[in-house]
Amino acid sequence: MSLESVVSLNVAKFGGTSVADYDAMQRCADIIIANPQTRVVVVSASSGVTNQLVALTQAETSVEESKALIKKIASIQYQILDKLGNPSDVAARIDHILSHISTLSERLKLTRSKAVMDELLSQGEMCSSVFFAAVLREKGASASAFDVRQVLRTDSHHGRAEPQIEMIAELAKQHLEPLLCDQVIVTQGFVGADSEGNTTTLGRGGSDYSAALLAEALQADAVEIWTDVAGIYTTDPRLAPNARPIPEISFNEAAEMATFGAKVLHPATILPAVRQKIQVFVGSSWAPEQGGTWIRHQVKSEPVYRAVAVRRDQTLLNLHSLQMLHAQGFLAETFATLAKHKISVDLITTSEVNVALTLDKTGSDSSGQGLLSEALLQELSQHCRVRVEEGLALVAVIGNNIASTAGVCRRVFEVLETYNVRMICQGASPHNLCILVDEAEAANVIGALHENLFEA
Ligand code: ADP
Ligand code: ASP
Ligand code: MG
Repeated sequence: MSLESVVSLNVAKFGGTSVADYDAMQRCADIIIANPQTRVVVVSASSGVTNQLVALTQAETSVEESKALIKKIASIQYQILDKLGNPSDVAARIDHILSHISTLSERLKLTRSKAVMDELLSQGEMCSSVFFAAVLREKGASASAFDVRQVLRTDSHHGRAEPQIEMIAELAKQHLEPLLCDQVIVTQGFVGADSEGNTTTLGRGGSDYSAALLAEALQADAVEIWTDVAGIYTTDPRLAPNARPIPEISFNEAAEMATFGAKVLHPATILPAVRQKIQVFVGSSWAPEQGGTWIRHQVKSEPVYRAVAVRRDQTLLNLHSLQMLHAQGFLAETFATLAKHKISVDLITTSEVNVALTLDKTGSDSSGQGLLSEALLQELSQHCRVRVEEGLALVAVIGNNIASTAGVCRRVFEVLETYNVRMICQGASPHNLCILVDEAEAANVIGALHENLFEA
């Protein structure tokens, strides 16, 4: 079959729980085989493996702890290998990756190089892509693992690398497209390489983004995100048992949901899809027959209330300066300092002599390093008094025409009577109303809002 005779091309991504073990991979392989349009498969590391690799990168992890972590990672891989019947080519590749993990972990004891960290963090995806291709072949499909670093070019900002869109398109045309005529290509999510060939990573949860970037480069017709829930729900189904799947949602709404913490999609996933108008499907690899959510450019209904999302572990910076009073330039100076330290500001409110802003931790890097450095705080302290509050959660009501519909605030706040709302942001976007609350109260706030807006 030539690529031209494939009516349309899909890129399918499978997350960590979907490729957690051999049985899970089998279910995913059946989904691929059932749809001949799916020619590119993007996989995450098996569930838990990236967390273990992150722990290996931490300075405080002892030699003994590192050994235990490597053993845990190896045990996950060997269980899959055993069930595959230990094919010698796959076994050799996995052994090679595992010994590379040990070498890199030792190297990190000597150097805190971010490049070495990224190389180490990428190894989970390396393993799962080799396995997934083998599982497909076992089922009779023609499939190979492909090193995504040949095409997913990024800058050299290790831990949170920026993809270079035009370069990715060019490289994909050259190295990836010709392979798709007669086989399914299985490749790694989350991983890229800079122009020197050094491994980079896109930040935690970045495999969704990888799939969308490859779909954009190949001008695919759809991206499928296969996960452990049957689509995007009205809120995280783990938080509200009555949350229900949304059959169809617009790019704007989905982008807002991802940005405000709906972990089911990495926040950047929607960008490539919007640029190329590629529709995105989200479904469960455990129950594909349940269908899922289609994210499209245009949707039939645009309700005022679509979903509630929550983003935990928020930092509030309160800056106080008398210079602000009837003066110019204070905000410009503050934002320049934050930009210099690569901090992305999220929400902001101001008064006469105070600015309160929350920081977007989705901007933090793959190895989980924090945002607020000593250097940043010191620089800010030079022109204002800085107070930092942690332990907050940002709850967002997401929908349409929120800022221009009467009664929204009443419905939102009538159930929040007993909670201390630390900050409110509404008006900038027609798609959201955000409140900052104590993290310990977030689950109850979500429950109350979901009940009032979606279960009444
Ligand atoms: P994967 O490993 O497949 O990428 P993730 O754990 O990153 O999966 O994302 C899936 C999880 O996202 C779900 O298990 C669910 O708990 C969480 N989630 C948060 N908000 C939502 C939402 N609105 N709809 C569906 N899932 C959500
Ligand atoms: N394996 C990476 C992570 O756990 C990327 C992903 O799963 O999307 O963050
Ligand atoms: Mg994810």
